[in-house]
Amino acid sequence: MWQLVGQTKAISFLQRSLERGAVAHAYLFVGPPHVGKMTLALELAKALNCEAAEVPCGACASCQKIASAKHADVQIIDLAGGRNSDEARLQTEISIDQIRELQHSASLPPFEGKFKAFIIDGAELLSHEAANSLLKTLEEPVGKVIFILLTASDRLLPTTVVSRCQKLELMPLVATEIETALLSRGDIETAKAKLLAGLSQGCFGWALSAAGSDEPLRQRSERLERLLGVTTGDGEERFNYAFQLATQFSRNREVVRETLDLWLSWWRDLLLVRAGCPSLITNADLEATLISHAQDYRLEQIRDFISSIQTALEQLKQNANPQLALEVLMLSIPRRGE
Ligand SMILES: [Zn+2]
Repeated sequence: MWQLVGQTKAISFLQRSLERGAVAHAYLFVGPPHVGKMTLALELAKALNCEAAEVPCGACASCQKIASAKHADVQIIDLAGGRNSDEARLQTEISIDQIRELQHSASLPPFEGKFKAFIIDGAELLSHEAANSLLKTLEEPVGKVIFILLTASDRLLPTTVVSRCQKLELMPLVATEIETALLSRGDIETAKAKLLAGLSQGCFGWALSAAGSDEPLRQRSERLERLLGVTTGDGEERFNYAFQLATQFSRNREVVRETLDLWLSWWRDLLLVRAGCPSLITNADLEATLISHAQDYRLEQIRDFISSIQTALEQLKQNANPQLALEVLMLSIPRRGE
């Protein structure tokens, strides 16, 4: 049993490859954060090393070691890898040193399992040098070693690297699928499961962590408060915010993308309220605030601003100048009561 909610297409593809003994030596899993890329990578590593007849069993010693990150042949390479916490905080790229370590380890036979699996989380963060070096390894496959690259956008990776990998896309789930999965795990109220499913944007990992901890919802409230402050604030406040987001973008582009996704969900909700469909809103716990704010804008103003947010998101994805893209966005916030 693959321990993953949804993603049936990707799972059955991998299962067929396993059955035919035709597993690729390099995979690229593409999908938004928290959609299940890491879970799927770990499940694949389990399946390759599982001791049971039906893989991955999730119960054998090998599967359990992988689940608790204690398997010597399954390694995760990411920004924080092998650094002390101070350096990790400042690190913005996956370095050539990390890839050299990986290459050395890949040249040795499996230590305790059947397959070595290297999972590169945030593959778009590979430095230019690191990506080139990894490319050589991907071009010369050796037996019993598999590379699994995870990324939110394969457009940020060199095409040479992408072309060496079997690409699998992980799609966001529909909200009801997430709601059902949350409820099946018990210990959550129906209303909360529905709210989290809506807010998760189809990413089960986010919904699950928000069900288990207050932090994701607290973070959302903080960002929404800032959003309301900026939309009702003056030009200076908006430019300061654009500058802050642009600075953050250079360190962690995901946080900025998440923030803009939240803006998008908020303005879409305003549109729904204005159009007389409040039952369809995502931020259902803030319906009263949405209703009061929706009065301040005309339908066209909201529609135009939604397309401005989408443009900014697209520009950031395409590596445009972040400060410029965000300043333009702040300039297009509609005036209230106009
Ligand atoms: Zn197993």
